Amino acid sequence: MSGKSTTGVSNEEFWRELGIDIEKHDELMKMLPVIYQNVYLTQANRPKNIAYFDNFIADIHGARPKEVFERKKRGDKVIGAFCAYFPEEVVLAAGAVPLILCGGADFPVADAEKILPRNTCPLIKSSFGFRTSKTCPYFLSADLLVGETTCGGKKKMYELLNEYTPTYTLHLPHKKDDAEARKLWLNEVKLFKNEIEEITGSRITYDKLKEAILRVNRKREVLRRLYNTRKASPPPISGKDVLLIMQLAFFDEVDRFVQKTEELINELEGRIKRGEGVFPKDAPRILVSGTPMTVPNWKLHDIIEKSGAVVVAEESCTGTRYFSELVEPDSGSVNIQLKNLAERYLHINCACFTPNAERPEDVVRLAKEYKADGVVYYVLQFCHEFNIEFAKVERALKEEGIPVIKIETDYSQSDTGQLKTRLETFIEILRASKVKPRGAVPAGKPLASVKVPVGAEIA
Ligand code: SF4
Ligand code: SF4
Repeated sequence: MSGKSTTGVSNEEFWRELGIDIEKHDELMKMLPVIYQNVYLTQANRPKNIAYFDNFIADIHGARPKEVFERKKRGDKVIGAFCAYFPEEVVLAAGAVPLILCGGADFPVADAEKILPRNTCPLIKSSFGFRTSKTCPYFLSADLLVGETTCGGKKKMYELLNEYTPTYTLHLPHKKDDAEARKLWLNEVKLFKNEIEEITGSRITYDKLKEAILRVNRKREVLRRLYNTRKASPPPISGKDVLLIMQLAFFDEVDRFVQKTEELINELEGRIKRGEGVFPKDAPRILVSGTPMTVPNWKLHDIIEKSGAVVVAEESCTGTRYFSELVEPDSGSVNIQLKNLAERYLHINCACFTPNAERPEDVVRLAKEYKADGVVYYVLQFCHEFNIEFAKVERALKEEGIPVIKIETDYSQSDTGQLKTRLETFIEILRASKVKPRGAVPAGKPLASVKVPVGAEIA
């Protein structure tokens, strides 16, 4: 690493210094603006404060990675992770930079498949592929990667990732209501604090942890406020735009992200007062529930919203599961702060837990809270946890008469036509049902059990 500042240095010079594979990276960077233009910049009536997030994406491998790299040159450590079970507060308290590095692109999957089996979840392949293909500046800046024992695929991938960048794995229990499991997890959080103190050379004090907890609480609170604006009818912002903001919450500097999101929310609250929205008032409202969607995975939202419905919330780790709980910062000692942190994280209802009765309850609650007309249950291919848990979520939704469709897909565009056909049919059914109260569905044909056939591709 040269001591030269990256300020004023061209992106290409910076990428070379990081060890990026320039040729491969050029291919990736050619695709992103085309996808972004088609998915995002074709939307009508976007709020003007979304410009900050558009600009972030336009230079996603430039401005922010340079800023992170500058911190690294000043001696701060960069800690990457792949899960909502990443106590980022601990990392911030040690003066390090936390980043969530889950891959959402199809591009590095081919590289990953040289080592990982093809029948592995795309999120795992894309994350691993970004490291092995040397096409992600965030990955190449990381001093330490943090994994967790959530699903089988991830924990085995982390062993291989450790051959490229030192990887520390948090042992997450499989049961959340068991006293021994809670003890184990609290101990893991304490060990993680020790690891971060060692790698950063910085002691995590009560005041530093309190400040970090408050900063992350503010980020989660601002996201909660953003989601609240979507409860309006019509919603003042598209689901796609909120998904983008959610995704960038994992990359951006915390305080700046909070400020920019607040500016946007102020604009959205003005729109709500004036009754302005981005979709007609009668557009079917969709809750998306399931596996996370990381940059640039915008496929499902794009299809739903181009089919005339609007996504009003995501029950996902790139959604409500990330921000729904805060941490009490002022608790008298570092040990109690760590206990509060551990407890907060164990309330994330990931499908990797057993039993996980809270998740179906959450999906139903959120569908009602956001006045969703239907739920699109999203599963990344080969994710057994979320796929199998669908049976329970579907049952809970059926009992409440809330229609649901399951979509299982990967990051490629090969099934876009087929998904479009299925989702358009589902949305049409929701639209038709909007004119009748839910109880008016004819007996023997409950909406919740509507099976939308896998149709022919639309030309
Ligand atoms: S879905 Fe589960 S494994 Fe994936 S990010 Fe969320 S908590 Fe982690
Ligand atoms: S989507 Fe499922 S299979 Fe993929 S990393 Fe998350 S829990 Fe594991």
